[in-house]
This record gives sequence, structure tokens and C-alpha cells, in this order.
Amino acid sequence: ATPTAVMVATGVGAKNGVLIKGGDALEKAQMVKHLIFDKTGTLTQGKATVTTAKVFTGMERGEFLTLVASAEVSSEHPLGKAIVEYARHFHFFDESSAATGTKDAAKEIKAGWLYDVSDFSALPGRGVQCLLHGKPILVGNRKLMEESGIDIPTQVENFVVELEESAKTGVLVAYGDELIGVLGVADPLKREASVVIEGLQKMGVRPVMVTGDNLRTARAVAKEVGIEDVRAEVMPAGKAEVVRSFQKDGSIVAMVGDGINDSPALAAADVGMAIGAGTDIAIEAADYVLMRNNLEDVITAIDLSRKTFFRIR
Ligand code: ADP
Ligand code: MG
Repeated sequence: ATPTAVMVATGVGAKNGVLIKGGDALEKAQMVKHLIFDKTGTLTQGKATVTTAKVFTGMERGEFLTLVASAEVSSEHPLGKAIVEYARHFHFFDESSAATGTKDAAKEIKAGWLYDVSDFSALPGRGVQCLLHGKPILVGNRKLMEESGIDIPTQVENFVVELEESAKTGVLVAYGDELIGVLGVADPLKREASVVIEGLQKMGVRPVMVTGDNLRTARAVAKEVGIEDVRAEVMPAGKAEVVRSFQKDGSIVAMVGDGINDSPALAAADVGMAIGAGTDIAIEAADYVLMRNNLEDVITAIDLSRKTFFRIR
């Protein structure tokens, strides 16, 4: 394309909230064969909500929620935030008191509803762990429990499977060496997601979903949105590997994501597209930024590239 055509296309993109960082990205988008979507925050709204909390011991529900929220309050992860929010609502029932309740962890501990924890660590792709009243508390997925030698009783496993089959993420909680409860977390699809997947297929672009979440939940979400190819339980570093595996036969691969987790994959892709509401690191790693946070703009971007490079051929 002539420099003028590229400039015009970049301008048209910007007007539609599609920021293009350079003519190279603009040219490649027309040839995309595989388009890899991150699940959480990209296909889904990224607004996780706890829908269920089940205690498997004699522990009181409020106490269970306080324990879990105390462990998660320092977490940056959407799952952690959803859990704290749920516990806060349980304790400060009406909106007005929830609104006056501060979101500052230290102040909340002082306010008395959260326990003080020590040795907090966030384990990417797994969950969180810390010490509470001198005992370890673990909040996360099966992998976290397995690695810590926590036994998952059959009735707990069955409950988690049930959640996962209905597209929810099961968050397991262990205190000491005992599995004490499970939370179910839902994250609805973006409204435009299915239409965009259908549109891409019509354009000859093959959609793929990649996620750190478990396979059963990922499959349920993928089915809802119309994606057949699912790569689940992918650790943060593994997402870039998935991109490379699709590039092996010379195919042009695009990746759409929002998280810190996604930035290596966004950089590895021929065309990296970051959701504008995503983290700065993802935005930096990408060739495109979708400012409206609307997946339809993935199609806008490919269309723009096809039109620009078709005209001058
Ligand atoms: P994604 O690729 O979907 O953004 P992540 O790699 O961030 O997923 O997380 C993968 C999985 O690790 C989550 O589905 C969850 O099971 C577990 N996990 C990560 N962080 C937390 C947390 N703070 N609390 C509970 N579980 C977590
Ligand atoms: Mg994400």
C-alpha cells in the first residue's frame, strides 16, 4: 500500500477506536488464519461474580467467607476480587454499608471483618496461599490442591464438576490440611461474542480459545460462544507457545487478550490485539488496541486491512 493509504486506514481505525501501531500490523491483519482469544476478560466480561459458596465442614458460612476473603484481599485477580466482594456483601448486607466500607485492605482488617494474614503469595494460574491463625490457607484450583498434597473428597469433586459443566469456575478452599469449601464463580460472555465468532468463520478466520481455566469450564464457555478449538489449563508462559504452534506451518496468527498473562502471546503473534480496558503491559505488547472494548472491532480491524490492501493491488 502507498504510505497515504496506510495513513488513511490508520485514521479510519482511530475514528472507530481501533488504534493501529504501524503499517506492518495493518498489512498482516488481512492474512490472519487463526485468531486466538483469551477467555477471561476478552471473550467474557471479566466481571466475575460468586454464584455459590458451599461449606463442606461444620464451619459457619460467615466464618468461611471471612477466611476466604482474608486470603484473597491482596489478590489482583478478578476471581479474588469477586470473592472479597461477595464476602463483603454477606457481612455488610445492604448497599449503603457496603459503599461506606473501604476497599483498603489494611483498613478493612482494622474494621474487624477480615483476619490478618501473613506470608501471602499469589501463584499464577493456580490461586493464592497465606498463613492465617498460624495455619496455611489455600484458595485456588485443583492444581494448587494437588501440589500442596490436599486430598479432594469425592463429594467436593462432584460439586466442582457440576459447577464447571455450567460454565462456572470452581474455587477450592483448604485450611490446614483439610478441604473446607468451594465457591462457584460465573463470568458472563460479552454480548457480541457469539456474533463475532460467527462473522470470523464466515471470513475464513479460525477462532481458538486459550485460557488458564480448567478444561471443563473452558469447553462449556467455548460451546456457548461457538468455538470448537479450546486450549485450557495453559500456564501464563504457555499462551505464547500456543501462538507459536499455530505459526509452525507459516500461518499468520492473531491473538486477542487483556491480561498481563497474555502479553507474551500478544508479542509472539503476527497480529497482537489488546482490549483497551486491559492491563498496560498487554496494551504495550500489542499491535492493535481496541479502545471500545468491543470484540466487533476485531472484525473491523481485519476488514480495514483487507480493504486497504485490496484497493492498491
Ligand atoms: P485466565 O487465562 O483465564 O485469565 P489465569 O491464568 O489468570 O486464567 O488463572 C487460571 C486459574 O487459576 C483460574 O481459573 C483459577 O482457577 C486459578 N486462580 C488464579 N488466581 C486465583 C485467585 N486469586 N483465586 C482463586 N483462583 C485463582
Ligand atoms: Mg484475560
